Amino acid sequence: CGIVAYVGSGNALPVLLEGLHRLEYRGYDSAGIAVVRRGRMKVTKAAGRVADLRERVGDAAPAPVGIGHTRWATHGEVTDVNAHPHTDTDGRIALVHNGIIENAEQLRAQLAADGVPLTSETDTEAIVHLVAAELAEAGSLEDAVRAALRRVEGTYGIVVVDTKRPDELVVARNGSPIVLGVADGQMYVASDVAALVQHTQRVVYLDDGELATVRAGGYTTSTLEARRTEKAPTTVDAAA
Ligand code: GLU
Repeated sequence: CGIVAYVGSGNALPVLLEGLHRLEYRGYDSAGIAVVRRGRMKVTKAAGRVADLRERVGDAAPAPVGIGHTRWATHGEVTDVNAHPHTDTDGRIALVHNGIIENAEQLRAQLAADGVPLTSETDTEAIVHLVAAELAEAGSLEDAVRAALRRVEGTYGIVVVDTKRPDELVVARNGSPIVLGVADGQMYVASDVAALVQHTQRVVYLDDGELATVRAGGYTTSTLEARRTEKAPTTVDAAA
C-alpha cells in the first residue's frame, strides 16, 4: 500500500517512521521497516498501527539506509510475519512491495520445490527469494532485481536493500507508483510524494517497466530490458 525508503548522510529511522505516518491516510493494516547498520539487517514489523511499529523500534541507533512499508493485505492474513519488509533465507536482502503478483502461487510452488523455505503467506515473499537466487550470478543488485522481475507477472512498486551494498537501494515500478526524492547527499523513495515533500521538492517519477539504482549522491534509471533512461528531476509544490 505505502512505501518509503532512504539512503544518505542522515538517519533513515525518523524518515521512515514519519513517512509511513504521512501515508496512513491511504489505509493499511500493518507496518514495517528494515535498516542496515554495520552490515546487518534489522527488520521490525507490527500488524496494527504505525504508532505500534514506532514503539517496537524504540530509540534504535541511527542507520544510513532503510526501507518502510504500510501493508494492505491481498495475499495472506494480517500478521506480523506477513507484514513487509520480507527477507531472503540468509537475511541478506529485504524488500517492500505494493501491488499484487498474479503468478505468486506458481512461483511459491517452484521455490518450495527448489527447497527454499517460505516463512510468510504473501505473494511478495516470492520476489525476494527470486532476487536472492539471481544475486549469485548477477553483477549488480539492479541486474538481480531485473532478472527476478522477468519471472514476475502482476503489479508492483518495490524497493530492495542489500546488506552487502548498504550504499544503495534498487527500486522498480510496474502499475504501482514510485517517486524518487533528490536532495543534497540524501535520496528518498516513496509511493506518494506526500511522504517526501517535507524533505525535498525535487522529484523523479518512475514509469512502468522502469528500475532505478539510488545512492546518496544520485540515481540512475533503466528499463526492464536494461536500456538506460535519462530522467531529470521536476519540482513539486511543497503543499502537494
Ligand atoms: N500483495 C502484497 C501483500 O499482500 C502487498 C499488498 C500492498 O500493496 O500493501 O502483502
